[in-house]
Amino acid sequence: MEMINIKINGMPFSVEKNTTILEACKQFGIKIPTLCFLKDINEIGACRMCVCEVKGARSLVAACVYPIDREGTEIFTNTKKVQESRKTTLELILSNHDRKCLSCPRSGSCELQEMCADFGIDNENRFEGARPHYENDESTLYLVRNNNKCVLCRRCVAACKEQFVGVIGANNRGFDTEIGCAFEQKLADVACVSCGQCTAVCPTGALVEKDDTDKVFDAINDPDKIVIVHTAPAIRATLGECFGMPIGSNVKGKMVTALKRLGFDKVFDTDFGADLTIMEEANEFIGRVKNGGVLPMITSCSPGWIKFCEHYYPDLLPNLSSCKSPQQMTGAIIKSYYAEKENIDPDNIVVVSVMPCTAKKFEIKRDDQGRNGLADIDISITTRELAKMIKSAGIQFTELPDSEFDPTLGVTTGAAAIFGATGGVMEAALRTAADTLTGEDLKEIEYPDVRGTKGIKEAEYDVAGLKVKVAVASGLKNAAEILDKVRSGEADYQFIEIMCCPGGCVNGGGQPIQPAQVRNFTDLKALRAKALYDEDKNLPLRKSHESPVVKKLYEEYLGEPGSHKAHELLHTTYVARKKY
Ligand code: SF4
Ligand code: SF4
Ligand code: SF4
Repeated sequence: MEMINIKINGMPFSVEKNTTILEACKQFGIKIPTLCFLKDINEIGACRMCVCEVKGARSLVAACVYPIDREGTEIFTNTKKVQESRKTTLELILSNHDRKCLSCPRSGSCELQEMCADFGIDNENRFEGARPHYENDESTLYLVRNNNKCVLCRRCVAACKEQFVGVIGANNRGFDTEIGCAFEQKLADVACVSCGQCTAVCPTGALVEKDDTDKVFDAINDPDKIVIVHTAPAIRATLGECFGMPIGSNVKGKMVTALKRLGFDKVFDTDFGADLTIMEEANEFIGRVKNGGVLPMITSCSPGWIKFCEHYYPDLLPNLSSCKSPQQMTGAIIKSYYAEKENIDPDNIVVVSVMPCTAKKFEIKRDDQGRNGLADIDISITTRELAKMIKSAGIQFTELPDSEFDPTLGVTTGAAAIFGATGGVMEAALRTAADTLTGEDLKEIEYPDVRGTKGIKEAEYDVAGLKVKVAVASGLKNAAEILDKVRSGEADYQFIEIMCCPGGCVNGGGQPIQPAQVRNFTDLKALRAKALYDEDKNLPLRKSHESPVVKKLYEEYLGEPGSHKAHELLHTTYVARKKY
């Protein structure tokens, strides 16, 4: 590593050669404003908010892409020229911007708003842009695009490309430039996979999830309805961020208390559905291996991944596990087994799921979910929407005491907890498959090779004499790499886990927004995943088949994994969709 000596604002520092000015300044505690820059994803130096002076350079340089490659480089981040340039850039952006902060869904978490406050820019502006009016695109079940608030930073375009989907881009030129789909198509009419990664990176209110919180409040306030909520494993590892808590705080107890105070009749844990998924999936995998079924089997709990497969790899649909996702399984059991046990008419039950993901809003409306005209899940909201509900109800989240899920469908195993991180489903399935095949209660239950935030992980295991080669991919670009190998016959895996979002559900498209200033310099995925692996380590039950709730369900209702009744309730089908 070659180090060079530089000066920033007259102070001497030593940095690794070719570090960008942005990274060097971060190392030395100097914040440079950025708008378009997203590390490794959108490094285009286009917005000009990060400009700095470099002694000897003819013009201002973009700090995000300028490599420091000369000994003695002198950088100035805060001169009058720099300040005026940044202010002018902001004023020009605002001149063409819908400035209705008071009614904007991102007010309070908007990077543009924060920058304007930092630079003292308000609605009075030297410039007046054309400000064309755009109709919102509300065509999908999961996103709203409001181009009146778009700053053309193209982060969403880069995030979508990174997902190997690329259905959005810049249309037209000059003041008429707008981000959207080709040929002015609506998002619902193109092969968007509903992942929501574009919403997680948008700095403004131009791209947000569809807000279903009013529907939830309406249900809670309906005296004829029993409203049951269940929360995905990844929510407890991220919800605290919406209330200023450190990234990676596990707020399970406070979250359950908040849900009770919001007025839900029952608070269940989607971890129950995750354990059930493992029971069915492990059984399906063993069946495929023993009976010459289609291999490799690929996990099916990530609905963004499922939609991607349906649009872009329909020839591999037979490889998908037929298991519904934990969200859907939990809903199906609430409206059948639980309703029968409690003698409740399932028509009077409203099931709300809290998910890390906008794709879940699409999944709940799929034709192949639900039974006898009854949806498994009625409303699906994201982590961000739950935080909004808690705030609007005046609940002081950080001051809440802990409480427990309802034990009827609320026992958490370690296997289910790690579902929220890439590799977690694979590890959970291996724990159960290994015990099932050996007939033993194995003590070695951790599979470090499939852990960690790498986009692709591979491992080979000997499970009771059976050689099992596995792959784990998160993020659809990585998934595509694995799938191309499967398609060409080059891969010899038996079991593949795919998660739509990079890092898995902890980094889902519905998770708390972290501004680029945090995102670019923090490993969000690793910090959030750690909360789940720590939970796994500390739980008394760490294998899905040990869950007393799951055991009871099979004894009293389903019979055994893969039974006729289990298939009716817990399994599904898929459909090929058009690519363009
Ligand atoms: S996007 Fe930001 S600056 Fe624009 S209206 Fe919304 S909160 Fe205000
Ligand atoms: S939801 Fe995902 S696939 Fe759809 S536009 Fe956004 S990033 Fe692209
Ligand atoms: S929609 Fe958001 S992320 Fe996309 S270009 Fe506009 S402001 Fe940037």
